Amino acid sequence: MKNFSNYTDYDTKENLSFDSKVVHGALGTEPLTGAVSMPIFQAATFRHPELGNSTGFDYSRLKNPTRLELERTMAILEGGIQGFAFSSGQAANMAVFSLLNPGDHVILSDDIYGGTFRIIGDVFGKYGVEHTYVDMSELDEVKAAIKENTRMFFVETPTNPMMKVADIQAISEIAKSVGALLVVDNTFLTPYFQKPLALGADIVTHSSTKYLGGHNDTISGIVVVKDNEEIAEKISIHIKSHGSQLSPMDSWLVLRGIKTLTVRMDKHNSNAKKVAEWLRTQKKVDKVYYVGFEDHKDYEVTLKQTTGFGGMISFSVDSEETVKKILKGVDMVMFAESLGGTETLITYPTTQTHEDTPVDVKEKLGITTRFLRMSVGIENPDDIIADLDRAMNA
Ligand SMILES: *Cc1c(COP(=O)(O)O)cnc(C)c1O
Repeated sequence: MKNFSNYTDYDTKENLSFDSKVVHGALGTEPLTGAVSMPIFQAATFRHPELGNSTGFDYSRLKNPTRLELERTMAILEGGIQGFAFSSGQAANMAVFSLLNPGDHVILSDDIYGGTFRIIGDVFGKYGVEHTYVDMSELDEVKAAIKENTRMFFVETPTNPMMKVADIQAISEIAKSVGALLVVDNTFLTPYFQKPLALGADIVTHSSTKYLGGHNDTISGIVVVKDNEEIAEKISIHIKSHGSQLSPMDSWLVLRGIKTLTVRMDKHNSNAKKVAEWLRTQKKVDKVYYVGFEDHKDYEVTLKQTTGFGGMISFSVDSEETVKKILKGVDMVMFAESLGGTETLITYPTTQTHEDTPVDVKEKLGITTRFLRMSVGIENPDDIIADLDRAMNA
């Protein structure tokens, strides 16, 4: 592998497999000292040698070596021309929606992340951006929602928390036919299991707070642009104007998380399969929502576009009493918001992640008061099951 002597050149690691790319990033090592772990460049500003001469770094809101390594690494992993690292997934999605103009219309997945509801309704609504929520797993509904001014499709797949699956390639063809952009929030599966840009999406976003960071220790977000320089430039202007860039320390944490992404995802994947199958045998569990079940409505689409099912499961139980028992009774498993970390977490979407989702939308989707979502961690799966069993059935 090449050794670089500056920050201008880097290697896209074309010849490496994905599980090697995650380890070796873009520069991989620090070019001037050879430090194997990209250091945390905790500097606000950079000294210029003379007038008209810069090291390539001027001020950390614009560009920082640690953040640059993360941004380039994510562009490599998702297969795009440029990556951007934000202070949160929310900030990343804000930047993407800022591509819209007043009067534009965006079509979104109906059971999208609660915070995205807030961005599009409360923030962009007042700037005259129109929106429609559709079930992206029903292509006829997607087509029927198109208006003259539709400029963007924003898709989460699988969805949060109903685990609905959208056919990215089919939707990208619909979007192209009307000249609209397709954005995919790839938080749940990460590029290890799903590569939206290769399937036709124009932009990928992430809450890297989740699987990319992977350790429940940082809040951060990512945007990767596939091939459109103009869009990349607009995102670049947005991030430096809003000042929503990720800090050097947090960039380093995400970079460090990414190094073990593939081994963690494999373990999340196999653990979730075991837990989902066990949940399904439980008397007090009414329904399990998991994309890895062969009888999931869109199992064929999942097999076509992903190489893994991820670590997310939702399920409904027989009563609110059972919900209370589980949330109070779990010991190793934690009742906490968020997902994608090493620890198994259970959340109660109706009052947590989806608190701001309108009640009628929640009811239509099935986010009831008997509904739970679980992010299966990388502990021993038998311990996860034993903990749930005791909490639910004791
Ligand atoms: C968590 C999450 C977000 C928001 O990200 P933050 O890092 O919490 O700001 C957006 N989309 C999805 C799918 C998420 O799970």
